[in-house]
Amino acid sequence: MPKSYYFAGWLIDGTGSPAKQDILICVEDGLISSLEKANPSQLKHLCPDGGLGGFCGPATETYPACTILPGLIDCHVHLTMSGQIDQRLRFKQLLNDFAQNSPLICERIEKNLALGIMALRDGGDIGGHTLMYVRQKVHWCVGVHCAGKGWRASGRYGKIIGRAPAGGLTLAESIKANSDGADHLKVLNSGLNSLNEFGRETRPQFCPEELDAAFRNARNLGRKIMVHANGMLPVQFAIEAGCDSIEHGFFMGEDNMKRMADRQIHWVPTAFTMKALSAHNPGSAQAQTASRILENQLEQISRAEQLGVTIAAGNDAGGFGVRHGVALAEELKLIMEAGFSAEGAICCATMQGARLLGLDHELGRLGIGRPANFIVVDGPPSSLPASLREVKQVCVRGKKI
Ligand SMILES: [Zn+2]
Repeated sequence: MPKSYYFAGWLIDGTGSPAKQDILICVEDGLISSLEKANPSQLKHLCPDGGLGGFCGPATETYPACTILPGLIDCHVHLTMSGQIDQRLRFKQLLNDFAQNSPLICERIEKNLALGIMALRDGGDIGGHTLMYVRQKVHWCVGVHCAGKGWRASGRYGKIIGRAPAGGLTLAESIKANSDGADHLKVLNSGLNSLNEFGRETRPQFCPEELDAAFRNARNLGRKIMVHANGMLPVQFAIEAGCDSIEHGFFMGEDNMKRMADRQIHWVPTAFTMKALSAHNPGSAQAQTASRILENQLEQISRAEQLGVTIAAGNDAGGFGVRHGVALAEELKLIMEAGFSAEGAICCATMQGARLLGLDHELGRLGIGRPANFIVVDGPPSSLPASLREVKQVCVRGKKI
């Protein structure tokens, strides 16, 4: 297998370490066989026509004014839903059957790939269509992990992405009885943020004993557990029952952050959802409340970083005003506004995402012996995350796509 070389002005490896300059990467059999700073004689050979002057042979791609970074991961999407804001259409899409949703799911996966997003974690849908789709068609280079239909308590929030236990079964019994082959369990344990009353907490959907038994059964089925939870008590119950990630976590408070840091539970803050709501009908009372919630969430992200909580990036694509693919850069922008460096924010969408999805062997970090799954964006790291809006090159296992 021939070697191919990539030269980049900057490299971000996904671990959160500072970017490195003038890096030459050698790829063999889809793996990175060397990754080092180009030496002065190699740099001298850099030709204006884009070759390395024969130094490394013809199979050299040079990107002196670009940054290479690992393929991205979005840890919270809903592939059956679009990010449109017309409420009538938002409702109508929930009535789609599998045949209608199938091409839409495909289109959204491709949109993600074009922006260098190589793995997605789906948070569930009303018909379980994303899981059905992925079982039928494995995408050749985008890994999609699915919850199928999520679980909510009867009469509580979550109809559009989940179901309630039925037939007199408990949550734990329902999970055990349901062999849909989902990759992870999605449980809804609170309501949504109120746009009428800032910080209003909804009560947990399930009690600690119910969550405990349910999570035990999910683990026995080999599933990780993602929990939608806002507010102190709903988040606390989910953490103490042993979830793998808290989704949203608005108003969860510092004590919960400490618990998450201790137990190495990931947090997926989905801050952009509030930015999207605040941009709708600007000036309205609801938009102002959304802005305040966003501000509060950014303060929480900043505090979480200080406390050592691992944050994975997810944007809730498919939610109101949250468009597939492009919204990941928006989420990273907010994470940076909360105080993360560009490298730190990229780590949330690479190494931390890969760990949460159990894809660390394939994605998340660039280094010697690791798969050559990377993207090239224009400009230095200081152009991030805006430079993610137009990805120059996507390489999967060393192959340009
Ligand atoms: Zn969601």
